[in-house]
Amino acid sequence: MEKKFQEAGKTQRYEKIKTLTNKVDKALWFLESYGLKPSSLKLTTVSGEPVKQLDLADKDDETRRSMDLEKMKAILFILDKFKISDQAYHEIVRKTEDLPRLHSIVRLREKTNSTFEIYRTTGNIPGAYVSLKSELENCFKTFETLPSETIKIKISGDGTRVTRISNFIVLSFSIISETAKLSADEQTVLAIVKTSESYENLSSSLHPVFSEINELYHSGSIENNENIYKIQLFFGGHMKFLQICLGIGSSTGEYACVWCKVSKFDRGDISKPWNFYLAPDMKRSISETTVLSRSSKKGYGVKHTLCSLLNQNTVSQMNFIYL
Ligand SMILES: [Zn+2]
Repeated sequence: MEKKFQEAGKTQRYEKIKTLTNKVDKALWFLESYGLKPSSLKLTTVSGEPVKQLDLADKDDETRRSMDLEKMKAILFILDKFKISDQAYHEIVRKTEDLPRLHSIVRLREKTNSTFEIYRTTGNIPGAYVSLKSELENCFKTFETLPSETIKIKISGDGTRVTRISNFIVLSFSIISETAKLSADEQTVLAIVKTSESYENLSSSLHPVFSEINELYHSGSIENNENIYKIQLFFGGHMKFLQICLGIGSSTGEYACVWCKVSKFDRGDISKPWNFYLAPDMKRSISETTVLSRSSKKGYGVKHTLCSLLNQNTVSQMNFIYL
């Protein structure tokens, strides 16, 4: 005699359900003459234990599998969002019988996690970052053809106040390219740190991200799948962010401009020729900023060394965009 359902093991139960689904589907053939179609059947064992619902809707294996995957992704999202432990989920599954098993959820989570390499930022500030290089490689995979011109990469940073007491700094990049089939608006997040925008916080937590930016700037190219792409970096952000990255004082200071050494008292002076502040000795230069930052008598609003964030040469030749 065949084993009863409740006596069967997990794998056997699964097999039984498959056979039962076919049998039930055949047995209920007459419903069609009423213009009806069975979609599912609920069962319990004689002792009242619930059994996985029989799905009778007419679907091929492929659709069923992709629907299962979507369902598992949705469950994984809920578990993450409400911080439900694996153990709690396992208990729920045991009570309901029609939820995916814990091990399939764990496998899906591991698979999803393995596609990202996320690191913890340095210092005592909570935060995470991804590697710029590997994210760029992922982006290049979406190129249909190899772009012959230089790929322009814009790195931007921004601080956001999320709640009354928490601030986040987000560093992201986007590829600005005309020929490559990639949306220019697409921003990829590089790093998120939960802290307020200040030089100390940025340099202690985002040091590895900045050093990768500096490194990439110096090589001027990136290799991917035996192709070498020439790259050009742009650095953007709002005024406060740029000032912090350059190690100069805030906008209320006397020398707040990131490009030149205009004093706030001279900003309204229109007696000077239009290109007065474009003259080499009025422009901010990296070497001068570095010297000023090291001397005890700091001038022109310089407060910190910029080298710990952006490399000297990176800043001198990088293009700054004010957003
Ligand atoms: Zn200026």
